[in-house]
Amino acid sequence: MNIGVLALQGDVREHLAALAESDVRTRPIRRPEELADVEALVIPGGESTTISKLAVSFGLLDPIRKRIADGMPVYGSCAGMILLATTVLDGRPDQESFQGIEMTVRRNAFGRQVDSFEGDVAIDDIAGGDFHAVFIRAPWVEEVGGDVRVLGRVSGGQAAGRIVAVRQGNLLATAFHPELTGDLRVHRYFVEMVRQAA
Ligand code: GLN
Repeated sequence: MNIGVLALQGDVREHLAALAESDVRTRPIRRPEELADVEALVIPGGESTTISKLAVSFGLLDPIRKRIADGMPVYGSCAGMILLATTVLDGRPDQESFQGIEMTVRRNAFGRQVDSFEGDVAIDDIAGGDFHAVFIRAPWVEEVGGDVRVLGRVSGGQAAGRIVAVRQGNLLATAFHPELTGDLRVHRYFVEMVRQAA
């Protein structure tokens, strides 16, 4: 199994490392030809407006949209979540999305109070207790369409109840960064999704 990490900007290395520890082959993706070689894709945390702009100039926007429409499994964390959303609030007007998950996300939602925030998140489908989740200028999900499953919400504090993990078919998104905390359960869950899709 070969899983790519979109390598235009953001915490690419951390995702490559988390996937490598989950026993799959990985490669950074910067060109359409490289995308053709992988069965699944991770979109890292970073800056969604920058990743969007680079995806357009590297000719990856349409190929990724097409692979998503054809059923390729994709996991997006933070900026990656924004890039998978059908509707983005507080985005830049020229910001593009790969589309896929029927949801409205608000950019920098936590960041209106603080730049980063840590909290516990329980994720349906993933055993082993709450995630200690790190949010960095993170989005949250304000609304989901009928086919989207809410997998996780913030459990306490000012943001309690906010949706921060969702799945729609082969697409998975979290507002937090499991690639930064050494907890590999989300990556392993995604790898299992890819296995089942294959
Ligand atoms: N605020 C960033 C954005 O809009 C996301 C931050 C992150 O990925 N840590 O893309």
